[in-house]
Amino acid sequence: HRLRRSRRRRPRDNGADSSPRVLPLEQQIKELEPACPLPPATDFDLAYFQSYSHLGIHEEMIKDRVRTEMYRDAIFHHRDLIAGKVVVDVGCGTGILSIFCAQAGAKRVYAIDASNIAVQAMEVIRVNNLSEIVVVLHGRVEDVEISEKVDVIVSEWMGYMLFYESMLESVIVARERWLKPGGLILPSHATLYMAPISNPERYGASVDFWRDVYGIDMSVMIPLAKQCAFEEPAVESVGAENVLTWPHVVKHIDCSTVSIQELFSISTGFKFTSMMRAPFNGFAFWFDVEFCAQARDDAEVNRRSTSTGGRKRNADLVLSTAPEHPLTHWEQTVVYLYEPIMMEQDSVIEGSASLTQSKENRRFMNIRIEYSSNGRSFVKEAVLR
Ligand code: SAH
Repeated sequence: HRLRRSRRRRPRDNGADSSPRVLPLEQQIKELEPACPLPPATDFDLAYFQSYSHLGIHEEMIKDRVRTEMYRDAIFHHRDLIAGKVVVDVGCGTGILSIFCAQAGAKRVYAIDASNIAVQAMEVIRVNNLSEIVVVLHGRVEDVEISEKVDVIVSEWMGYMLFYESMLESVIVARERWLKPGGLILPSHATLYMAPISNPERYGASVDFWRDVYGIDMSVMIPLAKQCAFEEPAVESVGAENVLTWPHVVKHIDCSTVSIQELFSISTGFKFTSMMRAPFNGFAFWFDVEFCAQARDDAEVNRRSTSTGGRKRNADLVLSTAPEHPLTHWEQTVVYLYEPIMMEQDSVIEGSASLTQSKENRRFMNIRIEYSSNGRSFVKEAVLR
């Protein structure tokens, strides 16, 4: 998901104060027992849940067939592990994934959502005669109580650039609170990728446009145009033909072992070698998630990622938002450079990227990319808010 709407609004417009009244999450967690990372809700959380009470956001997600059908296939594929078992749906929204789990034979499904959309979910469950199986809990995963351990967690937690919204933390909280040892988490793994891209049309439309406006020279606008067009990350679709190199794995996550702490800040070094002659305009990010019951060997993942540049899997149960795959509502996220750099075949782009939860609002993400090419070094910073 999404949050396309609230992303474009300032938090204040969502009813939240611009200064959070609680400690930064990192500090809160330090002050809590290590086994009990349950942060209190902030005004930003309330604004976040408010944004999910709009039906449009759920409509957009449900109409994304690539997303919704992959979840349904994954749930039905794992029916042996779901039938007769207890499931938690972290962030149930309209209840759709909970209903898929009930259809797969779950004995009981706890459908949890803090947003008012939970009220609609209850109605949907009722009219589909599933009230005996699906229990809707209207509250935060961090706050609601369940009186038994569960066998399965299902959740659709992914934001733009995978980590935007920081909802994975709530899946980890649910795992620590309720999942039986060895229980199933769907999706089981997630991977964020990045790659340099070329998009001279986009650059021209925003920058070169000002050179001749109805015959008037407005090129004095260009510095401002670059600032306005390329300051923020753009959620847009990237054509596979615009990707200059093999992608780099920024972060691979096993949902059954990942910790909240390791999501505060993610850093990676990269070295790309251009496969063609083209202007380099920015870095694109995308992700995939896998639905796999077996624990996998991380060494194997790394071996595959270095030998192919990208990871190759034989599993069918992968929801990919890569440029070469069918478009989803997540599209791709692009961090544009203020100045393009001309690449030749085999030109190298080297550097590092870090993705850090914003101190202002942990659901926002600070992106910092240091890169050098042809002996020149640059830094690009952007905030996904
Ligand atoms: N599962 C639904 C909705 C996914 S959107 C579907 O696949 O269509 C994510 C949902 O998670 C939102 O409705 C949001 O309100 C909810 N959510 C996010 N964090 C939560 C938390 N900590 N506790 C309860 N609900 C949460």
